[in-house]
Amino acid sequence: MLKKIIGRMRCLMGKHKRSRQQAQRSGDAAPYTSICTFCGVPMVRRAKGDWIVASKH
Ligand SMILES: [Zn+2]
Repeated sequence: MLKKIIGRMRCLMGKHKRSRQQAQRSGDAAPYTSICTFCGVPMVRRAKGDWIVASKH
């Protein structure tokens, strides 16, 4: 419970945590995609261990 609240606070600061369980990719050349464990925002892997929010702007 407390962990979730802290996670949400991190989200508000832009520090999302990608879900390892949700990580997937559509093909060998495609980047890994996942969602934030806490808020569910879509994320994409830019490099190993480097995940960013998948912005549609
Ligand atoms: Zn988040």
